[in-house]
Amino acid sequence: MKVFLHVCCGPCTIYPLTVLREKGAEVTGHFFNPNIHPFKEFKRRLSTLQDYAKDTRLPLVLDTKYGLTDFIRKVAFHEAERCNICYLVRLEKTVSLAKEEGFDAFSTTLLYSRYQRHSHLISLCEKLSLKYQIPFYYEDFREGWQYGIEASKELEMYRQPYCGCIYSEQERYDKSLRKK
Ligand code: SF4
Repeated sequence: MKVFLHVCCGPCTIYPLTVLREKGAEVTGHFFNPNIHPFKEFKRRLSTLQDYAKDTRLPLVLDTKYGLTDFIRKVAFHEAERCNICYLVRLEKTVSLAKEEGFDAFSTTLLYSRYQRHSHLISLCEKLSLKYQIPFYYEDFREGWQYGIEASKELEMYRQPYCGCIYSEQERYDKSLRKK
């Protein structure tokens, strides 16, 4: 089975890739993350993923365009819903490409994170699967949360301290927001 895996970053790729390969899947990663800000952070996450992909012989399809402007235009005035918009933007691109390129299924490393809206991701992926007529490979990758953390530390990978967008960066570091 050829799986097109949306990848958000290097550390979150470790466990899903391990599981998929154990199951015999041939995995290609798709990096499309216009939500990652600021620019230096985007570059750092991208290069961390590229190093990991090289070491593990993971083929990658990369979108290296820094997407700040487009992303902000999409979420402006809808900040409370920004995560759902963010998932849709990223995953719809992955699913449409997976279909175009003849993959057997798609999935996402977002299903690995304990901090993402897991059930919303499942229902979005199911909708996209129907829309583009390509199977969604689901697995609760959160089961390997600790495994991924330990492996990424062992590999001395860069581990980002916030989700990705500039809003999440503020939530991480602005003490007044964290108190709320
Ligand atoms: S918090 Fe994370 S999932 Fe939500 S909009 Fe920001 S980058 Fe996207």
